[in-house]
Amino acid sequence: MSQVSPLNEQRKSKLVQLCRRLVRIPSPSGQEGEMARTVRDLAAELGYQQIDIDAFGNVVACISGNRPGRTLLLDAHMDTVPVTDEDEWEYSPFGGEVVSGRLYGRGSSDMKGALAAMLLAGAMFSRDTNGEFCGEICVAATVMEEVFEGVAARSVVQAIEPDWVVIGESTGLDVSRGQRGRAEIVVETEGKAAHSSSPEAGHNAVYDMAELIGRIRQLPCPEDPVLGRGILELTDIISRPYPGASVIPHTCRATFDRRLLVGETPESALAPLLQTIDRLASERPGVSASARHVRAASDCWTGHKIEAVRFFPAWLFDSDHPLVVQTQRALRKVGLQPSVSHYSFCTNGSRYAGIEGVPTVGFGPSREEVAHTTDEYLLLDELYSSCSGYYSIIKTLTE
Ligand SMILES: [Zn+2]
Repeated sequence: MSQVSPLNEQRKSKLVQLCRRLVRIPSPSGQEGEMARTVRDLAAELGYQQIDIDAFGNVVACISGNRPGRTLLLDAHMDTVPVTDEDEWEYSPFGGEVVSGRLYGRGSSDMKGALAAMLLAGAMFSRDTNGEFCGEICVAATVMEEVFEGVAARSVVQAIEPDWVVIGESTGLDVSRGQRGRAEIVVETEGKAAHSSSPEAGHNAVYDMAELIGRIRQLPCPEDPVLGRGILELTDIISRPYPGASVIPHTCRATFDRRLLVGETPESALAPLLQTIDRLASERPGVSASARHVRAASDCWTGHKIEAVRFFPAWLFDSDHPLVVQTQRALRKVGLQPSVSHYSFCTNGSRYAGIEGVPTVGFGPSREEVAHTTDEYLLLDELYSSCSGYYSIIKTLTE
């Protein structure tokens, strides 16, 4: 039983125009200023009533219904990964060219298409109903997602206190009900520098690290029947001084990427590594090592500093959670056949669901394999379907 699509030809062409306009504005993380101002102006043109840019530079645009109700938040990040291989692109990364049903450009798939679709869906719904709906529809165009998932989204939660969140990251038009989280852990060993012609005068920090890495690799990782394995993988290593030039290294630092499962905390994720260090130190006098979560800072386009521990928790809702069920139902009404799945990467859902506990689902056009690639593109058919989908989700949740 499929309903008539809320998109006619005129609205489809408006949606493509909107998306092209966003793709043509470069917006790597930390440089989303022009993009944010454009989104603010577009939201105003589309009829959003309350539009704010917060300290981090997120744009939040809301439309209220005539009747009281709950707040639905649609979230899309404005930032993209940078283009480092422009010569390799067949289509200009900031051209927004449309060829054979595909819109090309950096951010087309991840995730300016979803942002355009959300903005238009909210505006169309409000106009079609003449404001006769319950609660509030908000679209958050967030910053810095590619470097700090969910950190800038904190101020969005504080500002509007959403009751439901729909993340627009690519799901191939399926419904996502969770994701693994992510943490970065640094392990450091400290020895004593000496000339390499008399190594016994020093203590080689790399040998201790080599032993530690071997033991850390043996650590069992937790498993989840839905989300899979909680991974612990070495991603880089460096010794000091570097280069060594006849010096026994006094320090060695290795970074580990942890993929987290639901319920894991900063403390519980760190505990097995600390125990491994303690055991080695008790077996071998002279070993000095530490493990900690990485803390990082970056400047937002507003000049505001964003600073956080790189720990982004996992989240997962039951497949019969009311929001999961209602979202699927809404999508079927516009002719989609969504299956229920989960993200294999990290999203702003770490904040909304993982930290704040707000019921959250993911629904977006395109597939995650297309994100961050050369000649990134978005299928126009999926762009249209996502917009109809957001429209129907809004309708279902504000009735
Ligand atoms: Zn993304």
